[in-house]
Amino acid sequence: MIKTHILGFPRMGQHRELKTALERHWRGELPAAALEAQAAALRARHWALQRDAGLDHVTVGDFALYDHVAQLIQLFGCEPARFGFTGQETALQRYFTMARGAAAHDAPCSCGSPHGDGVPALEMTKWFDTNYHYLVPEFDAATEFSLHADRLLAEVDEAIALPASPKVALLGPVSFLFLGKSKQDGFDRLALLKRLLPAYEQLLTRLAARGVTWVQLDEPILGLDLSPPWQDALRQAYARLGVVGQPLLLATYFSPLADNLDLACELPVAGLHVDAVRAPAELLPVAQRLPRDRELSVGILDGRNIWRSDLDAALATLRQVQQLRGGRLWVAPSCSLLHVPFSLRHDAAVDTELQSWLAGAVEKLDELRVLKRALWGDEAGVSRELAEARVARATRISSRRVRNAAVAARLRALPADADQRRSPFPSRQAAQRQRLRLPTFPTTTIGSFPQTPEIRAARAAFKRGELSEVVYRDAMHREIELAVRKQEALGLDVLVHGEAERNDMVEYFGEQLAGFAFTANGWVQSYGSRCVKPPVLFGDVSRPKAMTVDWTVFAQSLTPKPMKGMLTGPITILQWSFVRDDQPRADTALQIALAIRDEVADLEAAGIAVIQIDEPAIREGLPLRRAAWSDYLAWATRAFRVAASPVRDDTQIHTHMCYSEFNDILPDIAAMDADVITIETSRSDMELLRGFGDFRYPNEIGPGVYDIHSPRVPDTAEMLRLLKKAAEVIPPALLWVNPDCGLKTRGWVETEAALARMVAAARELRREE
Ligand code: GLN
Ligand code: ZN
Repeated sequence: MIKTHILGFPRMGQHRELKTALERHWRGELPAAALEAQAAALRARHWALQRDAGLDHVTVGDFALYDHVAQLIQLFGCEPARFGFTGQETALQRYFTMARGAAAHDAPCSCGSPHGDGVPALEMTKWFDTNYHYLVPEFDAATEFSLHADRLLAEVDEAIALPASPKVALLGPVSFLFLGKSKQDGFDRLALLKRLLPAYEQLLTRLAARGVTWVQLDEPILGLDLSPPWQDALRQAYARLGVVGQPLLLATYFSPLADNLDLACELPVAGLHVDAVRAPAELLPVAQRLPRDRELSVGILDGRNIWRSDLDAALATLRQVQQLRGGRLWVAPSCSLLHVPFSLRHDAAVDTELQSWLAGAVEKLDELRVLKRALWGDEAGVSRELAEARVARATRISSRRVRNAAVAARLRALPADADQRRSPFPSRQAAQRQRLRLPTFPTTTIGSFPQTPEIRAARAAFKRGELSEVVYRDAMHREIELAVRKQEALGLDVLVHGEAERNDMVEYFGEQLAGFAFTANGWVQSYGSRCVKPPVLFGDVSRPKAMTVDWTVFAQSLTPKPMKGMLTGPITILQWSFVRDDQPRADTALQIALAIRDEVADLEAAGIAVIQIDEPAIREGLPLRRAAWSDYLAWATRAFRVAASPVRDDTQIHTHMCYSEFNDILPDIAAMDADVITIETSRSDMELLRGFGDFRYPNEIGPGVYDIHSPRVPDTAEMLRLLKKAAEVIPPALLWVNPDCGLKTRGWVETEAALARMVAAARELRREE
């Protein structure tokens, strides 16, 4: 018996209908009932697609108006007390308040809630190693759980009415607790498991009574390095839930099971789903180890990427598993399809050849249909589809658009020391001081300046072909000049051109590099109603011509102060794109690095003395399993160094990273060997910097002295206090003064006010030293 299913489907809709509806609702233009109706229509459409592709079950419970983890907070009745809900709000109002926070308003408030000062939203954090962000549940000793299943049960009924056979998919109890946060010092949220399990049990009983034949519980933490208490928690949880009588499919994805493999196979559930894309080597061991009376669901299609599958290879693997398991098998994508676009087959911006290489969620459903028929023994019935997939793959792998002999030759000939600067940091520092003649505590910014409506309009008009190149360039030159004059007036030491010509730090480079394509509609949910459209990196990367030199040289011509050239680093470009699966990510990163390296060399040759290569994504590229870290960090930091190293000693290389946990990778950040690193630290009250100090980070460092995410302008004293705190842990001679991140989302008024105070703080510190 062969079954097919998916772990989840994108929620936004073919044309991002959910985004539109949500944003209208939040603006007060769409009543709650109409929003719910739209959502129901989307679910029905998506289930129909699943059913019509021959899936044995449609997946229910993966849908969410904002986030699937926040959904569980309401399902299990554990809304944090700090929101101060009075019971007068509707569930939907409470849901959006948790997701988005409540603005401050004068009491007494018509909504009846005591939040005159406003309430911050739940924290948002990245869903494992994806670019999806979930809302973090908050737990403390007082947290209680109770079942509120009306919404979920209504969705089950909708699916049954379609008609379709629903499989309910939810996050499992142990991952739910794991992904939440203890909001009380010393409180171990695992202690809540005993309270949470009865709510899950109750839910499973009610779902079984409703006619649900399968419940998929996701425990993706099985792919993480778990401590024994968390492993025990999984044992306890499933010892109880496994006997409720509702068949459970335990799902893991994103990462190898490794030392949790036996545990995953032993848990007393009716079935196990494994990710055979991220952990192909574990598939056969699992197939052998998992007791014969269990179902095995094989995640064989890549749920994280957009390539059309190699169906022949998939069939060969699945047949092997079939043989081991006596013919029984479930076939699925590796993880929820939340992480791929709705469809790519008819994308208006993609040529037909490239389209034929791609598979969005809808196309992956069709791949499941084909695999099932072939495994049922009707290979002849799908021979056309199999042949098409074969041709598409063969064409892609060998296409001249994909393979560029010059790039391959350059990689082969790359000298071993291509990732090394000419001299160690102390000599470079001396040479740079000689050339740049900066004061102590030099001031700078991270790159972008406010992107005003005029800038956006000019860029959009140019893109649509309504603005000639000459007119557009003049408009951008005016913006650059404005930014330069303002920076000079503010008294900043190292200036930037402001990035007016860039809408996105990856797209800007991807559009100019060979090997990238852009979709018109390849949207993927990032959080809430926000979606991103990652570039498609399909081929060998090369740089046809300089990408930033003209803008930077123009900006430098306006001022005697050093102008910082601004580039995006190879790992960030890699991380924020859909990348090819026909070569290791390390090789792709190195190709991008070489293109950036050429840009660095050109900037230097054009007289630019300071060049920043942003790598905000280097930390998020870390594999989920620690055992794989060192390999990743070795090639990632090498790619950065390859990009940064063609320059003379007296050319200063900066890098920038946004807020992240740096402490466990400090040696690797140091190994990037940037002359200056600017980081986001103000929200941590400089605590983040302590690690750099303890580690004796050797190069120069600019800890952000104010938070750019908020319009609030801190005063000079506050910035000075942070700077002094920084100077306690970092030798003052190594310190730079800068904001946390780029300023493109801010307005000019607050930007100028904040930078004036920042410069004043730096001057005050120089006086005091
Ligand atoms: N140079 C970019 C900017 O200033 C950096 C953005 C980022 O770190 N995410 O906008
Ligand atoms: Zn940043």
